[in-house]
Amino acid sequence: MRWSKHPVRNQARHLAEPPEPSAGGWHGRRWTAIVGVLLLAVSTVVGVAGTSKAAEPTIVSLTFDDGLVSQLAAAQALKAHGLVGTFYITTSFIDNSGFLTRANLNTLAADGNEIGGHSVTHPDLTTLNATAARAEVCNSKTTLEGWGFTVTNFAYPFAAENATAQSAVRDCGFATSRGLGDLRSPASCADCPVAESLPPANPMVTRAPDQVASSWTLADLQARVTDAETTGGWVQLTFHEIAVGTDPSLTISPALFESFVTWLAARTANGTTSVRTVAQALGQSPAPAPSPSSSPSPSPSPTPSPSPSPSPSPASFVDVPVGSPLYTEVSWMASQGISTGWRESDGTRTFRPGVAASRDMMAAFFYRLAGSPAYTPGTSPFADVTPQTPFYKEILWLASQGITTGWEEANGTRTFRPTVAVNRDQVAAFVYRFAGNPAYTPTASPFADISPQSAFYTEISWLASQGISNGWTESDGTRTFRPGLPVNRDQVAAFLFRYNSAFPA
Ligand SMILES: [Zn+2]
Repeated sequence: MRWSKHPVRNQARHLAEPPEPSAGGWHGRRWTAIVGVLLLAVSTVVGVAGTSKAAEPTIVSLTFDDGLVSQLAAAQALKAHGLVGTFYITTSFIDNSGFLTRANLNTLAADGNEIGGHSVTHPDLTTLNATAARAEVCNSKTTLEGWGFTVTNFAYPFAAENATAQSAVRDCGFATSRGLGDLRSPASCADCPVAESLPPANPMVTRAPDQVASSWTLADLQARVTDAETTGGWVQLTFHEIAVGTDPSLTISPALFESFVTWLAARTANGTTSVRTVAQALGQSPAPAPSPSSSPSPSPSPTPSPSPSPSPSPASFVDVPVGSPLYTEVSWMASQGISTGWRESDGTRTFRPGVAASRDMMAAFFYRLAGSPAYTPGTSPFADVTPQTPFYKEILWLASQGITTGWEEANGTRTFRPTVAVNRDQVAAFVYRFAGNPAYTPTASPFADISPQSAFYTEISWLASQGISNGWTESDGTRTFRPGLPVNRDQVAAFLFRYNSAFPA
């Protein structure tokens, strides 16, 4: 079975592009010089110009087509690094030789991966009439749902689509469908944009680079990410065989995949990029949720910090000047010692407001918001947090207060996943627990996109009731919380500032 080609796209479709980065925007590759630099309070950062930054976070989705059994190697590599991906399944292939089994799919989903639709028999949908196209698309969804998966996104077989195929995907209830070859790629589309926008311009054909081919090198894979970091936005990478000696055109070796994922995990750690499933990237599902089932018995009586100085001191960070959005909130973070930012090589300090906040950063922020209480960490409850882990003390303190419980892994260990980025709903849970799990029963959801069935419904509603989050007013007048949206550092400042205003020391 070969599906290595994809349609050549009409260049006119590339005219509507995301905005260019502001002049002087740093080039993503320069960040490779600072891999390993700690997140907060770091000293010298080499090679980063003072005032510039990416306008938006960069989100990478690793997607795997066709349900090939060799993708289990990729899944293992992802899991080892605390990352997740999206597996687009052609349902009639499952349980056949060379393909994943239903048990494999269960494991993938249990590890936090997304299961997406990729038709029943992998036809070129553009060759089918509307009825047949709908049957291929809808039946793949109902089959996967019947197997117990939440299925919201589709990928076109062969990336072949037309109006009929798009209608089928939409009518069958998929939120998006992935194309291929509409973003800059190693061997084509040189003038194409480097990232898809979020939300995508056309959800029925989300733009992605060419599928990863055997000719791709580690540098090719990395360039898809670092190029995107110059503008921010979303990059979906599409993998087939993760093996040696199978399909000669669409196979990459497990070693290459491991190298790439190791590099990606480091980029997540330094805050430049976060890896999400497609559903997470689109805000359909929370990014790795702190296991809400294991509700801690919290005794968090955090010692509040001194009340903030109401008028912040003069701009502490060159990248958050007076008059910028959230200037007050960010300056408050500095004045309270909650964030010290980065010292750049030219001696200035930066806050990097547009950098995604990670879980270990949140631990440090909350620990400092609590007044940096005396605390001697004992044995780590988390398999992925050792005394050598940055913010070891802060992370263990957070756990000791019941503010985080981490994840329970299949092997019975618990993990904290310190470098994973946080979403808005997770921040709501952190803030609510930090406040001591106040008794609160929502009477109605304050947000159109939050229902009593949503993860962290109580926490998010409480946050709104306290004025800590106002959400967005949509064009139809409703308010939304956007729970799956990643949280940047300046937005964390806003959450914590409002929390402190509502509950001053
Ligand atoms: Zn395929």
